[in-house]
Amino acid sequence: MNKLTRDIAQKLIDDHNLSVDEYTLLLSSNSDDLRTLLAKEAVSVRNSIYGNSIYIRGLIEFSNYCKNDCYYCGIRRSNKNVERYRLDIDEILSCCATGYGSGFRTFVLQSGEDPYYDDTKMIEIVAAIRNKYPDCAITLSLGERSKDSYQKLFDAGADRYLLREETADREHYSHLHPKEMSYDNRMTCLNNLKDIGYQVGCGFMVGSPFQKPDNIAKDLYFIQESRPQMVGIGPYITQKDTPFANEENGTLEDTLLCISILRLINPKLLIPATTSLGTIHPLGRELGIKAGANVVMPNLSPVGVRKQYQLYDNKICTGDEAAECINCMKYRMSSIGYEVVCNRGDYPA
Ligand code: SF4
Repeated sequence: MNKLTRDIAQKLIDDHNLSVDEYTLLLSSNSDDLRTLLAKEAVSVRNSIYGNSIYIRGLIEFSNYCKNDCYYCGIRRSNKNVERYRLDIDEILSCCATGYGSGFRTFVLQSGEDPYYDDTKMIEIVAAIRNKYPDCAITLSLGERSKDSYQKLFDAGADRYLLREETADREHYSHLHPKEMSYDNRMTCLNNLKDIGYQVGCGFMVGSPFQKPDNIAKDLYFIQESRPQMVGIGPYITQKDTPFANEENGTLEDTLLCISILRLINPKLLIPATTSLGTIHPLGRELGIKAGANVVMPNLSPVGVRKQYQLYDNKICTGDEAAECINCMKYRMSSIGYEVVCNRGDYPA
């Protein structure tokens, strides 16, 4: 690591903020030394807030229908090789019951952008979970909706919303999405969610097609300035039925560096060690925690539908029952000195 890189790394450690150019330089200088330095500092600031606790979220992928056609995504509407499914309210509640029994206190309801789940249906689902599990957090990840819709779901009992920006660079956004999708609308949605009072999660893929270090730098700067409570990042992984099937995957090393930088931008951030990290490396999630992440999200979806929610190829954890998943995760975390805790795992005040 040269002196300039070391000085910028130290500035991030001391001040928790950098310029876009400084982030670009750090990302362009990724090395074992730099990752080791930033991971050590990231773990230290995280542990000062969270100790050795790892929060756990139960992911329920309740529909793989999507009206959008993002070029990188395996469940895009043009992919005719996907067997589509939707879970009804009883099936979703059954996933929650299984999860609650296993100690989950946050449910993450995720789907493609599926107009079938209009406000009436979603309000019914959210209100039923809120009524049955008043001690649990409800996180939604349903894509772009109107502000009015977000408000209604918040009023029905949802607490948190995940909406990855995927890239905070307008031009890069246009390379990843068809013309009918709008960068401005994505940003408007994120602002609306924040205004309403959700705990908001954004995020991006590391190593997505056409991405350069300064694109990621803009994401990091965007996160630094907009102060979301959660940031989900993972390596880009190809999916064989997409226009990007022959592109290269993102790397473990770049993703780990970004996790450490995110932790240093905001020591309180909730950062998952994602399934995609576990897909590109057998110990990817453990390495994510060691780089500064503090959340894991085992799958509570019925085993029968999991293989159909293939955003990318070779996704792991599609065959195990929920109880096996949580036990596996507890074991994995304890093997590196961390403890999975069964509470809502809110963003600290
Ligand atoms: S990334 Fe999301 S919005 Fe885009 S096609 Fe996939 S599920 Fe739909």
